[in-house]
Amino acid sequence: MDKNTAIVADIQRASLHDGPGIRTTVFFKGCPLSCAWCHNPECIEKAPQTLFYPEKCIGCGLCEKGCYAGARVICGKEMTAEEIFDEILLDKASYAGGGGVTFSGGEPLLYPEILKELIALCKKEGIHTAIETSLFIYNPEILGSVDLVMADFKLWDREKHHKYIGVYNDKIKPHFIMLDLLSVPFIVRTPIIPGINDNPEEISKIRDFIKDFKNILGYELLPYHPLGESKREALGLSLNEFKIPNRAKMEELKKYADL
Ligand code: SF4
Ligand code: SF4
Repeated sequence: MDKNTAIVADIQRASLHDGPGIRTTVFFKGCPLSCAWCHNPECIEKAPQTLFYPEKCIGCGLCEKGCYAGARVICGKEMTAEEIFDEILLDKASYAGGGGVTFSGGEPLLYPEILKELIALCKKEGIHTAIETSLFIYNPEILGSVDLVMADFKLWDREKHHKYIGVYNDKIKPHFIMLDLLSVPFIVRTPIIPGINDNPEEISKIRDFIKDFKNILGYELLPYHPLGESKREALGLSLNEFKIPNRAKMEELKKYADL
């Protein structure tokens, strides 16, 4: 793989959850973090991987020719910016109501050359661009050229951050300050994981840190959802036992997230 290609896990059309309006979301493969609750565990490794769903296997023995039953799925396709953009363009009509394209993953900032090209192509076509990032990587050229940044601030506590996410958050905190200097609108999001960060102290500390930023549009709390667990199983990874936070807990925490 060279810097002119990226490994793409999936291109999801008509998404309503990855930014404003109807969006096409490009999921890039590869992430320097390893959140225990990751909803896209197939996007952590950069290299293509095989997911196996035994309940779909009909035992035909034709695996080498490709699985038509959907039991063995290869995740990860090497694509150029032009190839990705061709896919984005197919949905252009659906962006009319304020939608656009979202670069997600994994960590899209692992592919700066591809993003640079894609953003330029989107701008030419008048397509709104957004990026979802953990801000572990800071790239002012890319972050400063999209229309919207959605950045996750997952945990304030440094040791817990290391324990559950695989890295300390020492770099991430200053990256938020640097992001605010770029004059690009951004949204901060925290996934709420019961037993890990579902407490007022955690949320208040993040809120206090971000509340005076000039370009922040909002602070959102996202309830954990076990979407990634079936994919973890299909990848042969151990399963987690995180619970979905209840509505009362989310309502309580929202009070501490008010900017
Ligand atoms: S091709 Fe698919 S359905 Fe057939 S044996 Fe292989 S995994 Fe099972
Ligand atoms: S930053 Fe996102 S993609 Fe990376 S491990 Fe965490 S949840 Fe998964």
